[in-house]
Amino acid sequence: MIQTENTAIVLRFVNYRDNDRMVTLLSPSRGRIDAMIRGCRKPNSHNLNAGELFALGDYMLHEADGRASVTSVKLIETFYPLRSDYTRLTCGVYLLNLAEAAAEPEQEQRELFMLLVHTLSRLTFSDQPWKPLLAGFLLHFSACQGFRPRLNHCVHCGKAIPEEGPFWFDAAEGGVCCRDCRKEKSQIPLAPEQVRWMREALKSGSASWVDSPSAYAPFPLLRDYVEQRMGRRIKSAAMLPAD
Ligand SMILES: [Zn+2]
Repeated sequence: MIQTENTAIVLRFVNYRDNDRMVTLLSPSRGRIDAMIRGCRKPNSHNLNAGELFALGDYMLHEADGRASVTSVKLIETFYPLRSDYTRLTCGVYLLNLAEAAAEPEQEQRELFMLLVHTLSRLTFSDQPWKPLLAGFLLHFSACQGFRPRLNHCVHCGKAIPEEGPFWFDAAEGGVCCRDCRKEKSQIPLAPEQVRWMREALKSGSASWVDSPSAYAPFPLLRDYVEQRMGRRIKSAAMLPAD
């Protein structure tokens, strides 16, 4: 039996018995951790908020025989105001679902953790529009999961594509392609401004991508790209407004 303290955020929960809850946590140093919080659904529980989605805190875990249970939690942030805006709440759930799809047990996810916490903070405490926030998240997510899209050279022939394009996006090959290599219907046309937006967003780091003009953030394209690479559809995104 060991006791460990882990900074982590709740990605998902499943209620268990009358008062317990099984939570899936994302820890920067350990990736996914599944842990039981006993009694957290009793109205007078100290851990009432620690088992909610988005709860960020220092989780003290008791671990034995491959099972973890939460003994105490020092909450850092609950992102509570997200709950008052349905669209932004749905965005937040979508981010949690993506993080869950990427996280494996005992595999560090420092970049993903920071990206998630930064993006949730902006979603909750700023009035920045949700589409570029999510598009920026998806770009940096793809970079930290090892499939950053290539945006300067054609993914087929390797030629540099002129600034004014034209560009197509080839999700299967992971980047832009030129006019000469454009053959399949699955390649999607991209405006030069959209390519520029993505380059800027990747260059400026996860904390400042929103400084680029946001109208060009290609959220649906990046959503399809990331979900195709992850090999699964994230259903919560279907609840977001079409535009
Ligand atoms: Zn080409």
